Amino acid sequence: MRVFPRRSTPSSIQLPSPRLVSFNPAAAELIDLDPEQAKRPECAGVFGGSLLVPGMEPLAMLYSGHQFGVYVPQLGDGRAILLGEVRNERGEKWDLHLKGAGLTPFSREGDGRAVLRSTIREYLCSEAMHGLGIPTTRGLCLVGSDHQVYREQVETGAMLVRMAPSHVRFGTFEIFYYRKQHEQLKILADYVIANHFPHLVDGSNKYARFFSEVVEGTAKLIAQWQAVGWAHGVMNTDNMSIHGITLDYGPFGFMDDYNSGFICNHSDHNGRYAFNQQPYIGLWNLSCLAQALLPLAEKEDLKTALDRYTPLCEGQYMELMRAKFGLIETKEEDASLIQDLLALMQLHHVDYTIFFRALGLCRTESASLNEPLRDFFLDREAFDKWAHRYADRLREERSRDDDRLVRMNRVNPKYVLRNYLVQTAIEKAQQKDFSEINRLLTLLQNPYSDQPAMNAYAAPPPNWGKHLAVSCSS
Ligand code: AMP
Ligand code: MG
Repeated sequence: MRVFPRRSTPSSIQLPSPRLVSFNPAAAELIDLDPEQAKRPECAGVFGGSLLVPGMEPLAMLYSGHQFGVYVPQLGDGRAILLGEVRNERGEKWDLHLKGAGLTPFSREGDGRAVLRSTIREYLCSEAMHGLGIPTTRGLCLVGSDHQVYREQVETGAMLVRMAPSHVRFGTFEIFYYRKQHEQLKILADYVIANHFPHLVDGSNKYARFFSEVVEGTAKLIAQWQAVGWAHGVMNTDNMSIHGITLDYGPFGFMDDYNSGFICNHSDHNGRYAFNQQPYIGLWNLSCLAQALLPLAEKEDLKTALDRYTPLCEGQYMELMRAKFGLIETKEEDASLIQDLLALMQLHHVDYTIFFRALGLCRTESASLNEPLRDFFLDREAFDKWAHRYADRLREERSRDDDRLVRMNRVNPKYVLRNYLVQTAIEKAQQKDFSEINRLLTLLQNPYSDQPAMNAYAAPPPNWGKHLAVSCSS
């Protein structure tokens, strides 16, 4: 892809004095965009929505969705536009989506803008998730401006360009179902299958088989969130991608101390989207998609596909957790070994990321070598009891300490995007210092590697950063 700006967009979209504050070469590579192009002054114009590259025909997408369990008949891209799609040299298709792009026909009472704070959160977290190996939209760049945006207080407006195979959500199907527009529903399903699930085009039951693949992608995705200790915060059906990728980063959170009931969204008073609810909400959301597909597929086939969700999600979660514990063989008692440790961690407020990274250092020859691990727990004897079981289990499968450490370091990240880290980057950016954004971007692209100069970023949160309130306001 080369950037040849040609036309201007309507002034309602343009942010005044746009400037590129961060550019992500790893995402640029996916659309064959030479990072050198980012240095051209027009780049901020193109990715800030004020200049169009030939071939770009921006549009806003319509969708609806269930928000906190309640059906909202019309949502849509209220502050985002699809700039266009790019097919790279490998034949992969990437949508370029500009978030914070100004008013669209679906803005409702909103101003169509995104604040710098929320764009930084989405940009960094999507790259952090990708670094962890979790499917996600990708962040291409951040465009800043002096434009003032009114939220609880006055903030600066910004734009984010994100990329995904498509931005089709469960809610994109729901809107045609609830409007009884079954013909449009079929056009959408056929388009999605032809472009993104081409192996399903020929053959019977293609809509049910499409649904089955969405079930599988969603189950695997949510298992990955659970294993890394991450909560989405707003799992409405309009924020669920049909590609099984993490979509729409709002009040998300990586947990610090392990807490199964962790609620990262300050506005989620009932804990509908609490950490331990995510697997069930995944199922609930999929049942909404199944409902929307009823005019196209047999109910029984959709139900059969839906029934695969729970065993898939649980099986995948167990596989990921076994790897986090360094276990190779599968034994029936593994579930209780894992659950019992998590319960102890919850009781003793043990940091999830730091502890699992440290667990790789566990030695099976002598319990006395495991002092640093005991120190995570106030009740050291309770931990010893568990550690004996763990050591026995490791010995049973003749686990070698050194090999296991290497394996465990590949799946237990050293660095995650804790809320306080992103908060520090936001506060600096609000003072026009964008260096912390770029530092975190680079660090989090390799979360499993020891980066000794960056050890401070692997520390537990300071007191001020422990329970930061993050809400839907963005
Ligand atoms: P979200 O919580 O970001 O997933 O957004 C939910 C819905 O509200 C989507 O349809 C958004 O496009 C819309 N929305 C959120 N913020 C704004 C805004 N500032 N202006 C217009 N629409 C918005
Ligand atoms: Mg959304």
